[in-house]
Amino acid sequence: MPGLFAAGEVACGLHGGANRLGGNSLADILVFGKRSGEAAAKYASDKKIAEIEDSEVQEEINRVLSYLKPGGVNPYLLVDELTETMSNKVGIVRNGPDLESALQKILELKEEYKKVSVPGGRKYNHGLFTALELGNMLIAAEAIVRSAIMRTESRGAHTRKDYPKKDRNWLKNIILWKEGDTMKMDTVPVPEMPEELKKLVKPEVYQ
Ligand SMILES: Cc1cc2nc3c(=O)[nH]c(=O)nc-3n(C[C@H](O)[C@H](O)[C@H](O)COP(=O)(O)OP(=O)(O)OC[C@H]3O[C@@H](n4cnc5c(N)ncnc54)[C@H](O)[C@@H]3O)c2cc1C
Repeated sequence: MPGLFAAGEVACGLHGGANRLGGNSLADILVFGKRSGEAAAKYASDKKIAEIEDSEVQEEINRVLSYLKPGGVNPYLLVDELTETMSNKVGIVRNGPDLESALQKILELKEEYKKVSVPGGRKYNHGLFTALELGNMLIAAEAIVRSAIMRTESRGAHTRKDYPKKDRNWLKNIILWKEGDTMKMDTVPVPEMPEELKKLVKPEVYQ
């Protein structure tokens, strides 16, 4: 997406998807925070402010305010259920049946989410933030669980009890995208390692 700059945990690519070396995240956010911040400032200084249709703004205002009504499902309760599901069934050590049951639970929570609403107004309303954030949490949780089910091997911080070995056929990245209301997924090859890194990093070992 042109004009979108990311650094740190949300950009993920630096650590290759498996896991990071201990302490490397601090270096990551400092180095790439500086680089992406400078690049974003340069990009913005060369561009005019984008035009946004009034109708698009109004659509978003309507979406946000639609959560403000009494009597709906309490978003805090769904956050609790989602947190418990992810903590108990999608930790570092995983297995197929737990992941499948977590996915079922997330799909149920997605249905419940359609009924979420909060009392109060738009000022300092933490319930409203929680209702909005919960939608994003559900997307992230579903993406994590679907990817963990698909990856039938153990690699980095993804440990599958039912697939305990690292599998050379899984030296690939999983990508997800939105199509209508559904989440689609596929795999893409891991990019070739640059020559200068090949000199520093030992080749993958498979048993
Ligand atoms: C348990 C644990 C231990 C770790 N230990 C280490 C360690 O010892 N050494 C190390 O180097 N790294 C460690 N890490 C990793 C490191 O903490 C993270 O990689 C790093 O904090 C990521 O920084 P970030 O700025 O990219 O993201 P974050 O710190 O996640 O910052 C993102 C911010 O964006 C905010 N936000 C989210 N959505 C919105 C929105 N819609 N609007 C506005 N704001 C929003 C969030 O509230 C948050 O403050 C550890 C991580 C964990 C979880």
